[in-house]
Amino acid sequence: MSLAGQLYRLQQLDLELQKKQQELTEVENQLSDNKALVAAESGLASQTEQLQDARKRQKSSEWELEDLQEKIRQIDGKLYGGKTKDPKELVNLEKEAKGLKSQTRTKEDALLGLMSQVEEIEAGARTARGELERLKKEWEQTQEIARPRKNEIEIAIAELKRERNGLAGQIDSQALSTYERIRLTTGQAVVKVEKGRCLGCHITVPTSQWQKARAGDLIQCNNCSRLLYLE
Ligand SMILES: [Zn+2]
Repeated sequence: MSLAGQLYRLQQLDLELQKKQQELTEVENQLSDNKALVAAESGLASQTEQLQDARKRQKSSEWELEDLQEKIRQIDGKLYGGKTKDPKELVNLEKEAKGLKSQTRTKEDALLGLMSQVEEIEAGARTARGELERLKKEWEQTQEIARPRKNEIEIAIAELKRERNGLAGQIDSQALSTYERIRLTTGQAVVKVEKGRCLGCHITVPTSQWQKARAGDLIQCNNCSRLLYLE
């Protein structure tokens, strides 16, 4: 194989390595990106907290209502038990009962409001729990696919590197550093010459140049400086 041929093969290996490295990064991102899952978990946690809070408020509203009803029962007992005879006291008791009954109605309305609030939050939390389960399954499936994929890519990278280093070891070090330098500036250091044109810049290569390249000399394109390779 000519020197240009070796460099061309080296370039193929380098490009393949680059592609595999990108794939590896993507897979690693898939394996570590659990943002949606974390967000769903914290969303559910805050809904659970809201639910506990609303339930607490509902409970204390129920107790307050029970207290009021108990007071009303006691007054009713005094009013209709027959023990209280004083008309003035009876009037006062009636007034008090009326006031308590009105408070009861207000409390009952408030309790209904709290109950529907609790139901609403419960429904929201159920949806959030379902969504979290879905995301967890999705996450596990992704992990199951991505983990072996990562292994495959790592093995491929190791093989490519071994082949690349083996080949690089056979190439003249000055040619190798020219290759590396051009690769850094142009991305593609070695290009084929087809129908007399450099495939890097599509400019016609002088006959004498490509003849030298064909003979095995390492020739750079006059226009784009890339190394010319003729099969
Ligand atoms: Zn060129």
